[in-house]
This record gives sequence, C-alpha cells and structure tokens, in this order.
Amino acid sequence: MMRNKSIRFKLTLWFSLVLILIVGLTFFAIRVTSGMVLRGTIRDYLISTVEENVNQIKYTETEKDPKANIYIPYKEGYLEVDTDFMDVVNDVHTALYTADGAMLYGENPLSKETEAIPFTESYTWHMKIQNVRYDLYDRKLNITLPDSDTIWIRGIVPETKSAGQLKEITRISLILLPILIALAVLSGYLLADRMLSPIRKIEVTAEQISRGDDLKRRIDVGKNQDEVGRLAKVFNRMLDRLEGSFESERQFTSDASHELRTPTSVILAQCEYTLEKERSVPEYEEALRVVEKQGKRMNALIGDMLDYTRMDQGTKRYPFERADLSQIVWETAEQMKMIGTKGITLQTKVEPNLEISGNRMLLSRMVQNLISNAYRYGKENGTILVALQKVEDKIILSVKDDGIGIAKEEQEKIFDRFYRSDASRSIQGTGLGLSMVDKIAKLHDAAVKVESEPGKGSTFFVIF
Ligand code: ADP
Repeated sequence: MMRNKSIRFKLTLWFSLVLILIVGLTFFAIRVTSGMVLRGTIRDYLISTVEENVNQIKYTETEKDPKANIYIPYKEGYLEVDTDFMDVVNDVHTALYTADGAMLYGENPLSKETEAIPFTESYTWHMKIQNVRYDLYDRKLNITLPDSDTIWIRGIVPETKSAGQLKEITRISLILLPILIALAVLSGYLLADRMLSPIRKIEVTAEQISRGDDLKRRIDVGKNQDEVGRLAKVFNRMLDRLEGSFESERQFTSDASHELRTPTSVILAQCEYTLEKERSVPEYEEALRVVEKQGKRMNALIGDMLDYTRMDQGTKRYPFERADLSQIVWETAEQMKMIGTKGITLQTKVEPNLEISGNRMLLSRMVQNLISNAYRYGKENGTILVALQKVEDKIILSVKDDGIGIAKEEQEKIFDRFYRSDASRSIQGTGLGLSMVDKIAKLHDAAVKVESEPGKGSTFFVIF
C-alpha cells in the first residue's frame, strides 16, 4: 500500500514517526530526571528544616524568658523551644520525641503510622502510606539532659509537593509537544514539497514529450545544483542525445532516399526510352548496360548503408578484443594489392606487433575504405603508401596517394554521410566510405585527419 504513496507523503510520515519517537523519549527522560531532582530537593529541604530546628531547643532548669520561648516541662527542668522552631512549614512537619517514642512537642500528621519506626540517627526513610510517598528524617538532639536521656526530632514530608510540580511539567509538555510536533510535521511536509517540486517538473516535461513528440522541450533547471538539479541536467542531456540521434536518423533516411532516387530515375527513364519503340540489339544492350550500372550503384549504396547503420550497434555487434593492428593493416593492404587498378603501385611500411583493443573486422574495413579511396582517387600509374608506426604513445596509420587531392574547403565535409566532392563525380562511390572510417575511428577512440593538396595527392591519418 505504501508503494503507491508519493515520496512527499512517505518522507513526511517517516519524519513524523521519528520525531514523535524522539519527542516521546525526551519527554520520558525529562519526567524521570525532573522527578529525581524534585525528590532530591524535597529531601534536602526536609533535612535542612530538621537541622535548623535542632538548634532551637535547649534544656534549662528554669523558665527564663516565657515570652520569647515555649517551655515544656521535662524531668526536673524544662525543654526550652525557641519560637523560631518550625513545626509545620511548607508541608514539612517536625516533632520532638523521647527515646521511647512519646511525642513532646510539634506536629506529625502520621504519628500513628510512624510510631513503630525506630529512631535512627541522620537517616532518611521513605515509605508509602495510603498511596502517598513520605520522606522521614530523624535526628538526635545533642544537648545534655538529666539521666543522660536522649531526645529525638523527627521530620516528615509528603511527596505530593513534588508530584504536583511534576504534574505541571507534564501538563505543559502535553500541550506544547503536540503543537511543536504539528509545526515540525507541517514544515517537514512543506520542505519535502519544495525539494520535490523540480521532480514534478521533470515528470510534467517527460509526460509532455511522451504525449506529443516535441523532443525540443527541456526541463527548466534554474540554478539548482542539488541532486534533483543534477538529475534534471542529466535528463536534459539525455534528451539532447535522443533529439540528436532522432534527427540524424531522420536525416539519414532522407539522404538515403535521395541517393537511391538518382539511379532509380535513371533506370526508369532508360526503360521508358527504350520501350518507346522497336530497338536494335545493340541499343537494347546499351540500355541494359545502363540499367546494370545503376543497379550496381544501388547495390553498393544499399550495402554501404547496411554496414553503416550496423555500426550504430557498436561494440554489441562488434565485440572488442586485443587486435594486432600491424597484421590487420598488412593483410588488408596485401588483399587490396591484388585487385589494384590503374597501374597503381601499393607500398606498405608497417611496424610489426602493434596491438590495440578493438574489433578486427571493423579495423580491417577502415583500412579497406581508405585504400579503396586512394585507388579510386589516385592517379594512373601512381603510388599508394600505407604506413603504420608508433610515435611516442600513439599508433599512427597513414594512407597516402598522389591523386586528385581535395580542396581545402571540402576537407571537413568529406566525412559527412553521402558527401562527394565535385571532382569525384565521375568516379564511382557512395559517399559513405569516409563516414564509416570516422565512425570506426570514434568507436576505437581514435582521431581521423586529412592532409591534401588538389592535384598533388592526399594523406589520411588515423591516430590511435
Ligand atoms: P566515396 O569515395 O564513396 O565517394 P567517401 O566517403 O569514401 O565516399 O569519400 C567522400 C569523398 O571524399 C569522395 O567522394 C572524394 O571526393 C573525397 N575523397 C575521399 N578520399 C579521397 C582521396 N584519397 N583523394 C581525393 N579525394 C578523396
């Protein structure tokens, strides 16, 4: 059931539960300690009252000053009790006793109940009478009496006093704490609400995107640098990427259709023209040759397009392993030598045992595309040099030709899909070869560069 609730609700709930637990424990601790403190205070008060009263009693043989003191007949003389003697003060009752427990003076509301308790010097008792706790304190008077008698003073105080104060503390706590908890929960809820509001924004944006197909929408991140702000940023980056790849997908489809349209139109036009009337055999042959040429072109285009799109699946389709780049370059160059055209000589200068982590098939395809370009755009009876060498911590592959070269302003564009320079229109090609080289290089964390001068030749570098 909890799973369906909002984070805001869960946060507030947990927060409140923890808070209530903490407050409850604190309240409990306060009650216990304040109870202990109060009890201690009352006991101290009892002891100090009794101790003070001790000094108010003397033994005399005569009634010296009957106005200022109270005289209690005792044996041949009197016990002189100063009027400062506090028999009842602040619930503390004090009384004088003979050693065998007869009360001489003072107050004790519980004389019956405490009768049986023997006098013990300087010791506090506590006991429960009718559910009220009492503290009891006895003290022997240190005055000299006839027959070396002893007289005791006993103080007693009920704990109702401390209980009353405790009740007050509890009462105030019970009113204040719920208000505090309610305030804390409310502010927690509002805080959670504020913190989570960017998440709601993400939700709304994502919802809008998935309902329509406006991939251009982005979440308003603002200056928010916290986790949610970062999440929104990541989300926006993801959208950038998605938009980019959708856009390039769309572009690819459009370019591809465009590229395929030319050969298709040529074939259709050729057929239409040839079928207009009866033709001679050489004319039919000529027509078929045109159709074959355009068919081949379409075939090459479709093949390259397939290969190119497959590369988007990256390392999933083309797993990486340790690959001996030297061997791959050398073998590919040797194979290409055999189908070499235009009387071109292909030379290789390959440093052995240069290994990288990569996919052999893709690497071989890359070398193949570069050499194939060098042959196609190379000059008759020219030379191609394929080199692989290690320079510092880099491995550099270069394919150099002495052909038509590439104009400066075109050197960047040739890596775009389907781009073909004007100079190369007469030469067969799909415009996908170098895009493939670029893509393979990127998969291998390598960079591709070109150096070229029109009419003199070009060198392509792949730097691993
Ligand atoms: P394609 O060769 O099939 O046209 P590429 O992507 O391989 O497609 O090359 C794109 C363009 O770059 C070519 O059309 C050509 O104009 C130019 N190009 C590539 N390699 C060379 C080269 N070695 N010499 C001169 N121009 C080149």
